[in-house]
Amino acid sequence: MSAPKKILIVGGGFTGLTAALRLSADKNFSVTLVEGSKELGGLAGGFQIQGTSLEKTYHHLFLTDTSILDLVKELGLSEKLIWCDSSVGIFRDKKIHPFKTPGDLLKFSPCNFLGRLRTGFAALYLKHQKNWRGFTRVTAHDWMTRACGASAMASIWTPLLKGKFDRHYDKVAMAWFWARIHIRANSRSGGGGEKLGYFKGGFNVITVALEKQLRANGVKILTGTLVEKITSERTAVINGETVSFDYCLFTGPSPAFAKLLPTTESLNDYAAKLRSIEYLGAACLIFTSDQSLGDFYWVNVNEPDAPFLVFIQHTNLVGPKTYGGKNVYYIGAYLDPDGKTFALPDAELTQKWFAYLPKMFPHFEVKRVEEKFVFRFRAAQHIVDTGYEEKIPEFKTPLPSVFLSNFSQIFPEDRGTNFAVRDGEKIAKLIRQEATK
Ligand SMILES: Cc1cc2nc3c(=O)[nH]c(=O)nc-3n(C[C@H](O)[C@H](O)[C@H](O)COP(=O)(O)OP(=O)(O)OC[C@H]3O[C@@H](n4cnc5c(N)ncnc54)[C@H](O)[C@@H]3O)c2cc1C
Repeated sequence: MSAPKKILIVGGGFTGLTAALRLSADKNFSVTLVEGSKELGGLAGGFQIQGTSLEKTYHHLFLTDTSILDLVKELGLSEKLIWCDSSVGIFRDKKIHPFKTPGDLLKFSPCNFLGRLRTGFAALYLKHQKNWRGFTRVTAHDWMTRACGASAMASIWTPLLKGKFDRHYDKVAMAWFWARIHIRANSRSGGGGEKLGYFKGGFNVITVALEKQLRANGVKILTGTLVEKITSERTAVINGETVSFDYCLFTGPSPAFAKLLPTTESLNDYAAKLRSIEYLGAACLIFTSDQSLGDFYWVNVNEPDAPFLVFIQHTNLVGPKTYGGKNVYYIGAYLDPDGKTFALPDAELTQKWFAYLPKMFPHFEVKRVEEKFVFRFRAAQHIVDTGYEEKIPEFKTPLPSVFLSNFSQIFPEDRGTNFAVRDGEKIAKLIRQEATK
């Protein structure tokens, strides 16, 4: 029997972990997984709070997330998955308005009545429209303005687009927006409201189960270790040391991949294509308090002066029992990773965001805040502008035996753990096919 082929997987997020799971199940492969951070999990990674694991950035699943739901079942984690009723609001005109049902939309006073009706019809149209291809050349901003009118744009959609895409808000393709509405609308249980999935023990239960299985399959896992270069000669530089591989999979951001490549002329166009995909960073402030701030799980913050996009009372989704009876909150924003706000020291960012909370919750008492944590990710959301599909890199790269699978290839859907699992499976299959050619 020939020696197993050496597979190097760069990135221990859900894409890399899933690909490693599938490839390591095959005795013809010997898999090494290298992760730059100290822990596995990537953007869905957790930290310890009140004796349990919680995501550093807010996470839940939709009923339509079939790839990750299948994996959860396979890993024997189904009993840890709970489906909860979601509750969504919009903070606008100094008030939180419920924004979950068609009835809520009809009562949404910051928008004029015609705008509410037009928004309802637009949502219905997008829910039933199956073909997104016609939406790739038009921006969400233009299409929605035509469909819903200025009042709905000002009070609902423009603040949401700005919150998610910052200064790129008017470049985002309608196809992405279509997918958001389409998936959300179809994530409703028969006749009832929207159900969101979460795990007892957080998403970390998946990471832990995957890690356990990978180790059982003989995968060598190196955390806190950066891959610094990938060459055309099937080698990579890890911690200054050159190692050889038969196949390599990179799962980090596209521009980060460009940086690792050899600077040869033949790769110039490819590297430029990778760099043309822009990313925003994300900052999340998590805090606990004995104080409950209303009944909503998720509040979109649509006031023009708001310093963040979203306010989440996580324990309004899953209950406070797991967290020692405390309420757990997230405040989140997508930010230019090279901008001033992203670079603010934790204490300043916290102070700035806490200073806004009394506008939303006049009874908020900062002295009742117990724990506070700030997490930042530089590459959290890619900019899906019009014509984005032409920028999407292939799984196969111009480097022999080197593959790329990351969330910038997910389109028109919004990136998510479900698609990371889906693509991790796909890329593993592709590598196996290549290896058996
Ligand atoms: C604010 C926010 C909220 C979200 N909410 C949800 C949600 O509710 N539900 C949901 O399903 N998804 C959600 N997501 C998205 C989800 O977290 C991601 O889509 C998913 O985790 C991506 O997995 P990945 O493996 O593709 O990428 P990543 O998680 O980014 O993993 C890539 C890994 O590669 C590592 N890496 C990169 N370069 C190198 C290198 N040179 N050497 C070594 N390691 C390297 C990185 O450290 C990273 O860990 C959210 C994301 C954000 C930012």
